[in-house]
Amino acid sequence: MREKGKVWTTPFSPWQAEPAHPRNKVLILFVEVCVKTLVELERQYPWEKPKQCPKCQGVRLWGHGYAEAYFDETGGRCVLLKRYRCPECGVVIRLRPQEYWRRIQARVATVSQCVVERLEKGRWPPGCNSARGRHWLRGLKRQVRMRLGMSYAERLVEGFSELVRLGVCAVGRAV
Ligand SMILES: [Zn+2]
Repeated sequence: MREKGKVWTTPFSPWQAEPAHPRNKVLILFVEVCVKTLVELERQYPWEKPKQCPKCQGVRLWGHGYAEAYFDETGGRCVLLKRYRCPECGVVIRLRPQEYWRRIQARVATVSQCVVERLEKGRWPPGCNSARGRHWLRGLKRQVRMRLGMSYAERLVEGFSELVRLGVCAVGRAV
């Protein structure tokens, strides 16, 4: 569940497109998932099938196997994320827990706490891996520069919130 008052509480835009390849489009749908249960149940996890294709609104979606993923809270264990395919337009839909950005194994809340505290207090919070933190901070500076412009260069905490609001990974490498 999302906690009130945190930087990342603004809803994500529900869809993020992978780098576009016209014939092999993958969309990520952020859904509520209990990651701990997912570790236990593996393929038996009761995924909720999306009601329709977000691209063409087709209502027939077929199971399309699983994608492997790793999260901090699974302690290095691989979990399987359900995929669907729309037979009308060929899009592949990959479900992902909504607390996690693409390609980031830590929760958004963890990333936020780590980066924001570093920016505000000048030190990494206890329990935050500083090498990883620096990597996120570089990502944030890049995202802010590319997406929000120089006026945000000195206002990175604000930039972080704004990027979350825009539904993008605030510390991602790809722009
Ligand atoms: Zn479709």
